[in-house]
Amino acid sequence: MVLRTGEEYVNAIRHRNKVEIYVMGKEVKDVTEHPFLKPSVLAFKATYDAAHEEDSKSLGRAWSSFINEEVNRFTHIHRSPEDLAAKVKLLRKISHKTGACFQRCVGWDALNTIYVTSRLMAEKGKKEYYERFVEYLKYVQKNDIALAGAMTDVKGVRTLRPNEQPHAYLRVTQVTKDGIYVSGAKANITGIAASEEIIVMPTRAMGEKDKDFAVAFSIPLDTESIKVIIGRQVNDGRRLEEGEIDGLPYRTNHEGLVIFDNVFVPMERVFMLGDWQMSGILVEIFSSYHRQGYGGCKSGLGDVIIGAAYNLAKQIGVEKAPHIQNKLNEMVLLNENMYGSGIAASLDAVKLCEDGCWWVNPMFANVTKQLVTRFPYEITKFSTDIAGGIIGTAPSEWDLKNPKLKPYIEKYLQGMMDYSTEDRLRMVRLLENIGFSVAFLIESVHGAGSPEAQRIAINRVYDYEYAEKIAKYLSQTEKRIEFKENAEPWRSTDTEKLANNGGQK
Ligand code: SF4
Ligand code: FE
Repeated sequence: MVLRTGEEYVNAIRHRNKVEIYVMGKEVKDVTEHPFLKPSVLAFKATYDAAHEEDSKSLGRAWSSFINEEVNRFTHIHRSPEDLAAKVKLLRKISHKTGACFQRCVGWDALNTIYVTSRLMAEKGKKEYYERFVEYLKYVQKNDIALAGAMTDVKGVRTLRPNEQPHAYLRVTQVTKDGIYVSGAKANITGIAASEEIIVMPTRAMGEKDKDFAVAFSIPLDTESIKVIIGRQVNDGRRLEEGEIDGLPYRTNHEGLVIFDNVFVPMERVFMLGDWQMSGILVEIFSSYHRQGYGGCKSGLGDVIIGAAYNLAKQIGVEKAPHIQNKLNEMVLLNENMYGSGIAASLDAVKLCEDGCWWVNPMFANVTKQLVTRFPYEITKFSTDIAGGIIGTAPSEWDLKNPKLKPYIEKYLQGMMDYSTEDRLRMVRLLENIGFSVAFLIESVHGAGSPEAQRIAINRVYDYEYAEKIAKYLSQTEKRIEFKENAEPWRSTDTEKLANNGGQK
């Protein structure tokens, strides 16, 4: 089962034990056939296919020293800065194959995060988490499991701590010698219905009184007393139309609210229990990993939008106009900035433990995500400008398929004769469905932590005092300076120093 094919993954999801998943109030029998979730399963499937397709298999596979076999990179523990860069490249590539958020990266980032945190705890003498985790990792790699990562709690009133509003944070309600019981909910969990297992992590730095909330574990989705409620997205009703132009062909992602109603977790799946001091570090490590990844997947979607805008410009004969070329050029600059930053976060990685534990550069990872909160909106704006108002007004595919209307639509929406009206409508829909999607806009702002979380992280790394010293020296308001060895005016990229506050709001 190491290196499953996409088909094997879909079959496994289709034939798994019963899971309790709801879409628009109704329980879903088979996610692989449900029109609302099928596009999401297909996007997830692409992460399996990528390990087999000629153009992507060198990025899509990696060597695991844990099981001494080649594994799908989505289950791999990064062993070098180049491994981290390969992640960003792979995500850009799979965006081209799906035009969607393909959802599997969250579980991958969670896997790497727990690897690092359990190693750090082992180095301080608490070895059981690491030992359990390595066994779990081997199981995941051998079976090429589809993982979701669950970090965000519902959080209720943001000024209250977990112990002041226990229902708002997932918590341990009972510990026995065999395992733990947990209750609570995790929100906005990407790809949950298409996953087989969830890795659950704490959402913020915890104090001593919050130790019941400092818990990390993994659990199969088909465990009793877990319920999933899938959220809505813009244009999601189109999936239910089962058309072939307007909605269904687009692979999409979904997010869900996952409810844990006194769920039992066996002890061998518990990777943190009451270690409140580690909670903020874990959040910091996870969020930086995921922020780095956005440099790949969002630039990949950017390529799709640039391509669609270029094609639509050609379809109406304006692709050589200087102002169109300037706009396309701006889109490329914005896009490559996001990507370049993700690559920098990878190649300038930080080594957190003796035999590896390669963590992304936290400054560049946070800068990447901060760019991603802004640039996709700019890219979509330029593409809207190029495409014209038709992006918001085009007739539906059902109009095009109506024989009474088809000749009129074909006549009046025709552009250059090299393209049919259907070509134009297809491209308009592609641009609309991706350029205005949750994956490209809303998730770009709030996924992997809202913009303020990155500003806090950036401020923690950047040493304003040192920058001021440089300015004072050059203006000769101070006569002497002791230059640091490093070129960057950063305090530290040490996780413990960075984690006082946790990575998220
Ligand atoms: Fe992967 Fe990007 Fe989706 Fe996150 S937003 S799961 S990094 S594709
Ligand atoms: Fe995300």
